Amino acid sequence: MPTRRTLRGADRTPLAGEHDVLICGASFAGLAVARELAGSGARVLVIDRYEIGERQTSACGIPTAWLRELDLMGAHRQTFGRLVVHTPHGTSVLELPWTFSTFDYPELCKLLWEQSDAQFEVAKVNGRSGDVVHTDRGDLAASIVVDALGWRRVLGSGYQPPDAPLSRGLEVHPWGAGDELEIWIDRRYVPAGYGWSFPASDEVRVGVGSFDPRFHVKDTTVLLAEDLEREPIRYQGNWIPHKLREATEDGTFFVGDSAGHCLPLTAEGIRTALYFGIACGRELRRVVEGRQSVASALVRYGDFSASHEWKFRWMLETQHLVPRLPPRLLALALRGIRTRRFVDWSFKHYLAIAPPEFARPAPRAPLRRQPVARAAA
Ligand SMILES: Cc1cc2nc3c(=O)[nH]c(=O)nc-3n(C[C@H](O)[C@H](O)[C@H](O)COP(=O)(O)OP(=O)(O)OC[C@H]3O[C@@H](n4cnc5c(N)ncnc54)[C@H](O)[C@@H]3O)c2cc1C
Repeated sequence: MPTRRTLRGADRTPLAGEHDVLICGASFAGLAVARELAGSGARVLVIDRYEIGERQTSACGIPTAWLRELDLMGAHRQTFGRLVVHTPHGTSVLELPWTFSTFDYPELCKLLWEQSDAQFEVAKVNGRSGDVVHTDRGDLAASIVVDALGWRRVLGSGYQPPDAPLSRGLEVHPWGAGDELEIWIDRRYVPAGYGWSFPASDEVRVGVGSFDPRFHVKDTTVLLAEDLEREPIRYQGNWIPHKLREATEDGTFFVGDSAGHCLPLTAEGIRTALYFGIACGRELRRVVEGRQSVASALVRYGDFSASHEWKFRWMLETQHLVPRLPPRLLALALRGIRTRRFVDWSFKHYLAIAPPEFARPAPRAPLRRQPVARAAA
């Protein structure tokens, strides 16, 4: 087991202080919210059970344009212009209309964090009563509370696997190099889901994701790694939500996996965590600048997230459909859709669910900072 960088023993002193915004969770979603509040004058505290960038839980693949728009190319590792899809009945190569890149998780978190001016503390969040968040270092009150804590949705009504709309993913990170972004839709590895190999310059992220939370992916992750002649070392995995949830609940803002913002079918949740994090941060900025109330921000952000519901539903329906297709039919279908026109059309629509242009700075009006009224819980 790796030792995570965190505060231990006597270093876990009680936390105190008044904050306008308390962001719980310092991964993609939480850091994107904090970044959007930079320069607003708000007192923003970000907390996480580990130091920033400490616990990677993903293969860290993202459309390259998102790295560019957020000025995060410093974390970039490798870029791919095509996707190689393997089935038991053949391999299809899809030439993508945009590129996909892998990145280094600690480096990306560091770069995102440097774009914010929030404070950070290590603390484990245990729950919430009204506008008070309970942590293992004491209670914290803030006018605005954001849950970016991942699939557990600690500050709202949580999910309990395996009886919840969660997928499970596990990967290994052997050292080595590769040229292709590859996926396997093959029941040898997983009855419903896919396997992947994402090279990232000096390591390859090889894993299996199952849409069925009851299917254990450990053995088949090892099998895929062995088939690829890669060493099954340096494991990491997590549950992955595949259903959109309410993005606000009892006065709290939920962003990223805590709101089910990970896309069904592809399990791509980094881009969407950043996208909805930016959207949430923009609403909160309007609050701290005195342009709207917390209540209004809750409604506007909740509506924004919900306006994506049909896209998430459509992808979830496809997620249910693909495993039901007989493998030969799936291979035939893949051969049929690899035409340039279809791939361009489908991948452009897919990118448009959370388009990179959204990250471009919103025009800022002059600051009129006022004390922030507490959210009605
Ligand atoms: C194996 C695997 C591979 C994946 N690969 C990709 C990929 O290549 N591309 C992609 O787009 N998506 C991928 N995903 C999905 C992606 O990882 C998630 O959708 C994404 O991490 C969601 O970001 P988030 O910030 O919402 O949550 P997380 O990244 O889960 O962050 C939650 C944060 O909250 C902290 N936290 C949790 N509980 C507490 C607590 N009680 N107290 C304090 N802090 C706490 C955690 O330490 C963490 O920092 C993958 C997922 C898995 C499991």
